[in-house]
Amino acid sequence: MDVKPLLITGGTVLTVNGQDETIESGALLIEGTRIVDIGPADVLGARYPAAERLDASGSVIMPGLVNLHMHSGLIRGTAEDLPVFEWLAKHVDPKHRALTEDLAHAAARLCYAEALLSGTTCVLDMYRFMHKCAVAADELGLRAVLAPYVVDKPGMDWFETLETNRRLVEERNGTSEGRIHVWFALEHLTYNTEEAYRKAAELAAKYDTGIHTHGEESRDMAISLKLRTGRWPVELFHDRGILGPRTVLAHCVWLRREERELLARTGTAVAHCPVSNLKLASGIAPVKELLEMGVTVGIGTDGVKENNNLDMLEEMKFVPLLQKARLLDARVMPAETVIRMATIGGAKALGLDREIGSLEVGKKADLIVIDFRKPHLTPVMGGKYNNAASNVVYAATGADVKHVFIDGRQVVRDHRLVRADVSEIIASGQTAAERLFRLREPFVPA
Ligand SMILES: [Zn+2]
Repeated sequence: MDVKPLLITGGTVLTVNGQDETIESGALLIEGTRIVDIGPADVLGARYPAAERLDASGSVIMPGLVNLHMHSGLIRGTAEDLPVFEWLAKHVDPKHRALTEDLAHAAARLCYAEALLSGTTCVLDMYRFMHKCAVAADELGLRAVLAPYVVDKPGMDWFETLETNRRLVEERNGTSEGRIHVWFALEHLTYNTEEAYRKAAELAAKYDTGIHTHGEESRDMAISLKLRTGRWPVELFHDRGILGPRTVLAHCVWLRREERELLARTGTAVAHCPVSNLKLASGIAPVKELLEMGVTVGIGTDGVKENNNLDMLEEMKFVPLLQKARLLDARVMPAETVIRMATIGGAKALGLDREIGSLEVGKKADLIVIDFRKPHLTPVMGGKYNNAASNVVYAATGADVKHVFIDGRQVVRDHRLVRADVSEIIASGQTAAERLFRLREPFVPA
């Protein structure tokens, strides 16, 4: 297949490279799966007269967003206003018991479509029947790291096992031209035995892949674990051998000083999920301190049952707002820091920062074009008043994302999916959800 190089031209390019370079009236050339040139629009226009052109005037061109912790799902808006462990027992576990692979497939298609349409190009998804998630990601063209919910405590055998996880790694890791990765994943310290962590660490080393699990979000649970085991949650992860540069812990809201030091020392990454932490009344994670200690922190939406959307641009706004209010200091977390977390930070946490996460020559063309010709994104200023980064973090939403490219291929064009029909995805998501609620009924506690 002979595809012409594509010049995306005329917009403000937020490169998120090492110098956070911004190019006003910039352009970028995609050839095959990669970015082969970046610079001023007039220079690149003259250099590549034969290239196909996509006019991005009045837009921001930036790296695709990395959603570092999400769960595909179908129970959006039906599991509200409960403390986390009551919420799990009443809504989430019954859903898991009723889930089938077809329902999981419909959920993944729905959630991946939502992610793409709002500018996410890579997800770390923790879900079940994830061979079906691989099919959905492949169909839509999304880059995905699949992390199956593994549980090994007795009495919860409807979850995945390390054996099903291992099989998924063998079958799917590195497939779809390298867009699909499979990690080992454990639900939570209260759902998994000590042995499960040791075994996951062994398997991850053997298969040269990563580990994802929920760090602690609830203060009460952190205290109860400490009382029961004598160790704080991150210390337990350390004892069980899973901390390291290829591990991502979600949440980590309550961290003692020694836990933060362990994260920094071992190179373990954190997926910060501010909206979920607010909605489940978990608290506010010490993100500013973690970044200062050199911990890699990315941003995740968590699932539709706890957020209730997968809009990373909306999520990004909460990150600095919470840190500023928590520390009573308006100077903390400038917009550029938040953009780094949502792009190169997430990519680094996934071990993919050499390939994605910034717009640099040689990297994969995973990028988004955000249309700034909107009342809520005006004015667009240049020079010393350049407000592109601030507008991305504080004023834009997922609905402003106009074009999305992954691996150099356009997967969203003019706000529409290129590779699938979104109305069909919505209809099958609706049917699947209705069926899931019927199947779930016998498992819902009175
Ligand atoms: Zn989660």
